[in-house]
Amino acid sequence: MIEAVNAAGDHGTLGTDTEDKLVLVVEDEEDIQQMVCYNLLRNGYLVASATSGEDALGLIEKRRPDLVVLDIMLPGISGLDLCRMLRKDKENSGLPVILLTARGEDNDVVAGLDAGADDYVGKPFSPTVLMARVAALLRRSGGRGEAAGVINIEGLLVDSNRHLAEVDGEELDLTPTEFALLLLFASRPGWVFSRDQIIEAVRGHGYAVTSRSVDVQIFGLRKKMGRASRMVETVRGIGYRLVV
Ligand code: CA
Repeated sequence: MIEAVNAAGDHGTLGTDTEDKLVLVVEDEEDIQQMVCYNLLRNGYLVASATSGEDALGLIEKRRPDLVVLDIMLPGISGLDLCRMLRKDKENSGLPVILLTARGEDNDVVAGLDAGADDYVGKPFSPTVLMARVAALLRRSGGRGEAAGVINIEGLLVDSNRHLAEVDGEELDLTPTEFALLLLFASRPGWVFSRDQIIEAVRGHGYAVTSRSVDVQIFGLRKKMGRASRMVETVRGIGYRLVV
């Protein structure tokens, strides 16, 4: 029940941070299992799959994954029970877990977080959202909180090493401050950054940024992002975030 394939080499735009990261997908529904595995492989992860909690435990014992995508509804040990077992196990108590919960089941979400899951995604979900959550959780659990080398979300590519941003393969002509803003947002898709946090993050680059000029910079950034401009969302009264 294990397939471990590194597809990173087949996709030139993938970041180095996904290489050698093993994600275990625990789901008994074949369609969802395949869809999740396919998208993980496309994003450069190593993938292992299990259709039950018992299988998952066997695989985890053989090689500890870097993250587990865990469905709540499983035959045998439920996803919640498996999550609790992992949290009690000294070896695996810090293993990042994203739960897949049933649509509209708020009880699942509460129980899941209570069982020690780090995050959850409700079914049906978009693969892009799940991939963003996986990347964000891996970064969080990586401890250093550094931006990934390359971030690729829905045709928006941000490469911190080459100082390059592209939309659908077209390079964006950004100022250093605009680039720093985009890199900040892309490093944590979905997270809301306050204007103060944005200033704090960008100040290190030696550019004068005031609260009001953040808005001006965002305006300029959006204009250059073309069709991807909608990805930079204003969160009223707080700040901005990258939506996926
Ligand atoms: Ca299931």
